[in-house]
Amino acid sequence: MADCLFCKIANGDIPTEFVYEDDEIVAFKDINPQAPVHILLIPREHIESADDISKENSYLIGRIFEVANKVAKEHNLEQGYRIVNNCKEHGGQTVNHIHFHLLAGRHMLWPPG
Ligand code: AMP
Ligand code: ZN
Repeated sequence: MADCLFCKIANGDIPTEFVYEDDEIVAFKDINPQAPVHILLIPREHIESADDISKENSYLIGRIFEVANKVAKEHNLEQGYRIVNNCKEHGGQTVNHIHFHLLAGRHMLWPPG
C-alpha cells in the first residue's frame, strides 16, 4: 500500500535495521520503546488490523508468533515476554498495518490501561 508507513519499512523505502526478516515477516525495534526490549513484528503483506485476518492470510499470524519466539530466544528472554496487538481505534492502534509488539525485560502490568 503506497501510503503505509509499515509497508514502506517492509519494502525498504524507509531504511530500517531489521532484527529479523524473511520473505513474509519483518521485525524491527519500536522507535518509542515501552520496555527494555520492544520489537514490532509485521507481515510484509498489508493487512490493516486484526479485524482483517481471514482464512487466507491467517497463516501469517502463526508465522509472526513463530518468529517472535525465535527473536525472544535470541534476546535471552527466558523469563518471558508479552505480545500485544492493538486493534483499531478503541484498541489503541495508530499504524494501520497489522503489527504485534514484543515487550520484555521487565515485569508487565495487568490489567493494561
Ligand atoms: P500501535 O499504537 O499499536 O499502532 O503501535 C504503533 C507503534 O509503531 C508505536 O509503538 C510506535 O512507537 C511505533 N512506530 C511508529 N513509527 C515507527 C518507526 N518509523 N519505526 C519504528 N517504530 C515506529
Ligand atoms: Zn502496509
